Amino acid sequence: MPNIVVAGAGVSGLTTAYVLSQQKRNVVTVVAKHMPGDYDIEYASPVAGANVLPMSALENSRWERETWPILKKIAVQTPEAGVHLQKSRVFRRQKDIDKLKSPGATFDGLFAENPWYSTLFEDFRELPKEELPEGMASGCEFGSVCINVMVYLPWLLGQCRKNGVLFKRASLKHLLDVTSLTPRPGKVDIIVNATGLGSLKLGGVTDKDMTPIRGQVVVVRNESPHMFTMSGTDDEADEVCYAMTRAAGGGTVLGGTYMKGSWESQPDPNQAMRIMRRACQMVPELTNGQGVRGLDIVRHGVGLRPHRNGGVRVEKEKMGDIWVVHNYGHSSWGYQGSWGCAAGVLELVNEVYDRAKL
Ligand SMILES: Cc1cc2nc3c(=O)[nH]c(=O)nc-3n(C[C@H](O)[C@H](O)[C@H](O)COP(=O)(O)OP(=O)(O)OC[C@H]3O[C@@H](n4cnc5c(N)ncnc54)[C@H](O)[C@@H]3O)c2cc1C
Repeated sequence: MPNIVVAGAGVSGLTTAYVLSQQKRNVVTVVAKHMPGDYDIEYASPVAGANVLPMSALENSRWERETWPILKKIAVQTPEAGVHLQKSRVFRRQKDIDKLKSPGATFDGLFAENPWYSTLFEDFRELPKEELPEGMASGCEFGSVCINVMVYLPWLLGQCRKNGVLFKRASLKHLLDVTSLTPRPGKVDIIVNATGLGSLKLGGVTDKDMTPIRGQVVVVRNESPHMFTMSGTDDEADEVCYAMTRAAGGGTVLGGTYMKGSWESQPDPNQAMRIMRRACQMVPELTNGQGVRGLDIVRHGVGLRPHRNGGVRVEKEKMGDIWVVHNYGHSSWGYQGSWGCAAGVLELVNEVYDRAKL
């Protein structure tokens, strides 16, 4: 039976390990420095909101398209996974619209007028003027999901264990180190690299296109009637504004920042204040009109989105005599693309099987 080791236990590694272990012929082990339950600046997944707000352009939308129906099904059928349905509103300011049309603009897919994802969500609708907050030129609404990542990541781990996946905690200097670290006997046939931002420095990979995008959040006990995000703010250029209320008592995540190249791990109190002020302005119902003073803070957090210049890397390569399938560089959309990317990895793993007759 083919022996596969997945390096990384974030949402990318866990989802991939689960999808691979669903094929009974695979024997799967996960090796990672951080596991669900940990909080660390090198581990993005526990900091994410997380919701589904499609960000890709149409031509790169495969991963998000394939993930949406699976997350929706989990929300409806699997309450123990910590995912629930929630309406989401996307607001566009007039002053951002031209900027967003420029090539390479951040989140260009999300804030596009007539976005490709209008056909992905069956209840998608453009908002009439009277439903727009002051200062917004246009906006749309659709039924999305919000994931309580503190429940979802352990749930994914549990699904893997049910399928016989083994877990080993280890810090790798080189990707091929997994061959001596796996607790299973025998030769490792395929390695899946799902080390996120770790791929910048990991021996054998050292991908210089990897860079962090720092995201600061405030988690509060208050609830928002719907999720929302808007195309820009009047504060710093690398600040954004969104809110999402997690399933199963996970609190509401208020964001945020989008600081490309910043490795700063500590929350900035001034940024936190601006995040809270903007959220209360956009959704006064958060605090019944009391503004920031009415917020009940659970914690402040910072995560580094594993961004890759040139886009996500889902591809295979031969490293020595072992096939490696990469799955890293998911930037801001690791959850909402997770099932699609895992399916992409499975296809590549099957190509390796066919070639090597494992
Ligand atoms: C504030 C914020 C909000 C976000 N909101 C959303 C959202 O709403 N929706 C969404 O889809 N996404 C969101 N994201 C993005 C999402 O969190 C990431 O894209 C996703 O978590 C990346 O997952 P990953 O598994 O690839 O990487 P990670 O979660 O970082 O996991 C990397 C894994 O690799 C391991 N590893 C790395 N290097 C080594 C090594 N040398 N040796 C051993 N193990 C190693 C780590 O220990 C870890 O287990 C958000 C991110 C942030 C920061």
